[in-house]
Amino acid sequence: MPDRMRAAVLYGREDVRLESVPVPDIGPGELLVRVRAALTCGTDVKVFRRGYHAKMIVPPALFGHELAGDVTAVGHGVKGFAVGQRIVAANSAPCGQCYFCRRSQPNLCEDLLFNNGAYAEFIRIPARIVEKNTHILPSHLRYEDAALVEPLACVLRGLDETGICHGDTVGVMGLGPIGLMFVRIAKSAFNARVIAIARRQSQIDQALRLGADEGVRMGEPDQLISDVKARTASRGADVIIEAIGHPEAWELAVHLVRRGGTVNFFGGCAAGTKVGLDTSLLHYSEINCKASFHHTPEHIRRSLDIVASGGVTADHLVNRREPLSRLPYVLNDLLYTRNGHLKTAIIP
Ligand SMILES: [Zn+2]
Ligand SMILES: [Zn+2]
Repeated sequence: MPDRMRAAVLYGREDVRLESVPVPDIGPGELLVRVRAALTCGTDVKVFRRGYHAKMIVPPALFGHELAGDVTAVGHGVKGFAVGQRIVAANSAPCGQCYFCRRSQPNLCEDLLFNNGAYAEFIRIPARIVEKNTHILPSHLRYEDAALVEPLACVLRGLDETGICHGDTVGVMGLGPIGLMFVRIAKSAFNARVIAIARRQSQIDQALRLGADEGVRMGEPDQLISDVKARTASRGADVIIEAIGHPEAWELAVHLVRRGGTVNFFGGCAAGTKVGLDTSLLHYSEINCKASFHHTPEHIRRSLDIVASGGVTADHLVNRREPLSRLPYVLNDLLYTRNGHLKTAIIP
């Protein structure tokens, strides 16, 4: 076992450096994992732009949170894991004891423990995550598929929160990796009629390939509202998922849903931003407004089942592979150009 490794360290705004750092020491209950695939994520791009994330990461810090790899060392007292096993570990675990955990809202845990450091050769998995949110991979499952478990778990929970019913019409605004996963799951798990909504035709085409029934280009707000209404007998969709993360899109979302329907404001907006919502519309049309954050251990388990069965794969969402040394380039590219890139698999 080497005692040093290459790892990406976040120093601040748009400042990520590859450095030689000590391989993490592991304590009781912990695992050391050789990272085999780490996926880029919109959250990482946001953190890269802003230089920190109040809840998840404060620099200087190891960076990256969607990973799968091999167990290379096992701490004292670990049960159920052994050296050589292929695993996926989530990026957090709840305490199980606080007010929110006891009320079955562990995603809101007062002491949610986050783990970062996937953009590295090795990562330490803290004991609580080992115990609650780490799983052995079925032998057929590739590392980059397994690394999708975390974001997909957020999507599964986001759909659960809408109260979606079988056969509902679901509009998905924003067709990045998260929006595309919503399209996929709404179709495969709920046989929904899915309307994919985005600015670029290329994004809509990809959504159609993943199961969307139709696409609507986002242009002027009034045009979008009438385009969606025209496809839903003038009512609006049963469920609207906002997966863009812009205040204007949140404001628009409530106009695309039917009376009594549900909007999930899934896309996190920049801190400090505000929205203006049409109070009469919300009141007289009984619009249900939800916002979802993060995942739970149950959703991580369900997510792994879906990924293992091929319901969502890296073939749908990962369209680039790069070595660890290219991470700063990849993050810059995702921040400034995108070029149709969804997720990049970083292979340390
Ligand atoms: Zn993520
Ligand atoms: Zn808790």
